[in-house]
Amino acid sequence: MPNLEIQNRKLRQRLAELTSDAEHNDRVLQRFHERELELLTSESLPELLLSLTEGLKSSFNVETVTLILHDPDHELRHLLHNTGTPAEAFPHVQFIDNFDTQHTICTTLEHPWLGPYLSPEHDQLFPSCPRLQSVALVPIIRHKRLHGTLNFGSSSMDRFTRHHASDFLHRLATIGGVCLENATNHERLLITGMTDALTGLHNRRYLDRRLGEEVSRTQRYHQPLSCIFVDADHFKRVNDNYGHAAGDAVLREISSRIRSCLRASDIAVRYGGEEFCLVLPQTSLFDAKRLAERIRLKIAAEPIPTDRGLPLEITISLGVSEIPEKVSAQQGDNLGEALIANADAALYEAKEGGRNRVACRVSDDYLMMANS
Ligand code: GH3
Ligand code: MG
Ligand code: MG
Repeated sequence: MPNLEIQNRKLRQRLAELTSDAEHNDRVLQRFHERELELLTSESLPELLLSLTEGLKSSFNVETVTLILHDPDHELRHLLHNTGTPAEAFPHVQFIDNFDTQHTICTTLEHPWLGPYLSPEHDQLFPSCPRLQSVALVPIIRHKRLHGTLNFGSSSMDRFTRHHASDFLHRLATIGGVCLENATNHERLLITGMTDALTGLHNRRYLDRRLGEEVSRTQRYHQPLSCIFVDADHFKRVNDNYGHAAGDAVLREISSRIRSCLRASDIAVRYGGEEFCLVLPQTSLFDAKRLAERIRLKIAAEPIPTDRGLPLEITISLGVSEIPEKVSAQQGDNLGEALIANADAALYEAKEGGRNRVACRVSDDYLMMANS
């Protein structure tokens, strides 16, 4: 009888352990599902990259999660730049040109690798996270090609060992790979929908999306933001005298000359027919005015060739405006609209003043706000 009781107690204890294990596994599975769902519902490439690094780090409760992405043509970096959140904003994501020369350790990964942290092999995968003891390196493979690796680093020796099952991680990386492909395609499509077909510049839809972001950034970092509005002078005459195709060629050349004067961080938009809008982060009115003068000269100084005989002498008028740093520290809902409206008003003044010139306009509202 006592034997039976002992056996009974042991069985109960075992049952309690199994139930606890099952509950634990259930919770882990639940967490995996939640994480998968977060990856699947990420709405943009930046959001997805954050989910794959910061998100996985917190749900796995590990020291770090890094992501290595193969980006031979820098396309991912360009796409990110276009979203307004550049690659540099993701310290845990590394974009590499070539797996054969960088992170060669990744090229041999066909399945997740779980085991001790090995120095120097793993150092580059976790550049700013010392004291790691064990790691899981999970390849992201799509269409039989290695697109990157998802790397988990833990300060605990027995967190990732070769005895642990890796099928969940494998599945997560597969889902991550599909999501990356989707997000990349999505950003590509957005760019197509935000690019002007004639000039290759951005279109107004892009400006609508970016202007608010740039104004917020300006306010956050107390930096000036400037705008230049450009309009070709008497452009109707070009069409009337030389035809629509020659007009198109002139518009393309104007765009290309404008672009050659800008920095990578400047935003150039074809605003309408022969109107262009340039938004210049971290640029004061003074510098924007100098830039506007440079652009004006670049167009006026050298006639534009067309296939209709002699090159055409084209001029442009430019209006410049600014959100000064003092104002940008204040809150204001319509700062972006005011910036554009002021540049447009300045352009009108340049036209009235005789064309082929630059005019500036600083809103009285700004001056009042800046002095208050
Ligand atoms: P202003 O100096 O006052 O700006 O005179 P303007 O002739 O440039 O201005 P207006 O607004 O009267 O004419 C703009 C012309 O631009 C009319 C339109 O036919 C032409 N245009 C607009 N979009 C395009 C385009 O994509 N291609 C060509 N070839 N012409 C265009
Ligand atoms: Mg016009
Ligand atoms: Mg015009």
